[in-house]
Amino acid sequence: MEGREIAIIGGGPAGLMAAEVLSTADYAVTIYEAMPTAARKFLLAGKSGLNITHGEDYRRFATRFGAASDRLRPALDAFTPDDVRAWAEGLGTETFVGSSGRVFPKAMKASPLLRAWLRRLEGQGVTLLTRHRWLGFAEDGYLFEAPEGRKIVRCDAALLALGGASWPRLGSDAAWVPWLSERGVDVRTFRPANCGFDVAWSAAFRERFAGEPLKSVVASSEAGALQGEFVVSRHGIEGSLVYAHAASLRDRLERDGKSLLTLDLAPGRTAERLTRDLARQDGKASFSNRLRKAAGLEGVKAALLRELMPEAPKADPTWLAAAIKAVPIPLLRPRPIAEAISSAGGIGLDQIHDHYMLKALPGLFVAGEMLDWEAPTGGYLLTACLATGRAAARGIERWLAGG
Ligand SMILES: Cc1cc2nc3c(=O)[nH]c(=O)nc-3n(C[C@H](O)[C@H](O)[C@H](O)COP(=O)(O)OP(=O)(O)OC[C@H]3O[C@@H](n4cnc5c(N)ncnc54)[C@H](O)[C@@H]3O)c2cc1C
Repeated sequence: MEGREIAIIGGGPAGLMAAEVLSTADYAVTIYEAMPTAARKFLLAGKSGLNITHGEDYRRFATRFGAASDRLRPALDAFTPDDVRAWAEGLGTETFVGSSGRVFPKAMKASPLLRAWLRRLEGQGVTLLTRHRWLGFAEDGYLFEAPEGRKIVRCDAALLALGGASWPRLGSDAAWVPWLSERGVDVRTFRPANCGFDVAWSAAFRERFAGEPLKSVVASSEAGALQGEFVVSRHGIEGSLVYAHAASLRDRLERDGKSLLTLDLAPGRTAERLTRDLARQDGKASFSNRLRKAAGLEGVKAALLRELMPEAPKADPTWLAAAIKAVPIPLLRPRPIAEAISSAGGIGLDQIHDHYMLKALPGLFVAGEMLDWEAPTGGYLLTACLATGRAAARGIERWLAGG
């Protein structure tokens, strides 16, 4: 295999992992990265602790990728959450399982892991060319904008690991979509995933409560009933509990033009107990005092009830208890994809062979978030990017070996 040249276009987690695998054999591996440094989104993920994988039972883990779960399964089986942890440890980054089951580096950041990873790649002979932006196909190669001008790269096999469409300023801007579509690859429209939503807050509520967290609430949608927290933003709602519902809320908005996230503001108390406690309150006490004393609601929680259910018959304990257990937040639209943690859409999984080679373009492989799968937050995204990067690398090895 000596001398066979492999171009990896995109230096995020998927591309770097493919380079790591391929550079253990005698290939000449070059990573072409548009930005001045590699893996900017990975570094940003590190700002919130770098949730690198998840510690739940693997059979459950493997179902977290929705309709794509079966298709991703062989890649995940070959690089499981345990493998992710062992790999990180091999790079000097010890991990731990948090109370939610999420796995984080003990250092709670990405930079030491990335530094060690890039050192390993360099040691294995990988060339990393930054400020090299892929511009599409040339007659017999790949056209790049490089610091020295435009150039055409010719290689024996190439991997595109260009990411999805969220946070484009970190590099993954989905500019490649028309180039692949023109070559007969079906690329599904990118949509926000793990995103916030716009809500038509009143000016008074927005001014007073934007930035306030709602802790220990249960939110329900077609995705189920989940406990957690989220934040009221100027535009609407944001945060982990919202992201957990985001795919189903987004799909419902697309289908019906409307969608609700329903909140239980007092998950520790039954409606019956709330009714009893509300009925016991002094009828002359203010509404705020009754809510606080009987239901433990004050601040943003009490304000949310008033904001969203202004017509609530405040004196009727049964009605009020039911309202506290099911406050509907009407959603207008998802926040723009540029703000989302990740994206849904991308290259259809039916467009690739088992080993991640595009059916329409032999010799060209794809991996990571640019493929059409989505998953909640929780370390699933990075695990699948790493796993598909490895699977595509194995595919390239097989292709170059003539298999
Ligand atoms: C704020 C935030 C927090 C996150 N936190 C987590 C988390 O804790 N856990 C988790 O699992 N996931 C998290 N994610 C998601 C995770 O970071 C991504 O799913 C993952 O980085 C995708 O990897 P990738 O290699 O497919 O693409 P990317 O990381 O997007 O990398 C693609 C690379 O390709 C380059 N590129 C694009 N176009 C071109 C071109 N034309 N020419 C050359 N290079 C190009 C880009 O510059 C980029 O470096 C987070 C995302 C965000 C935005």
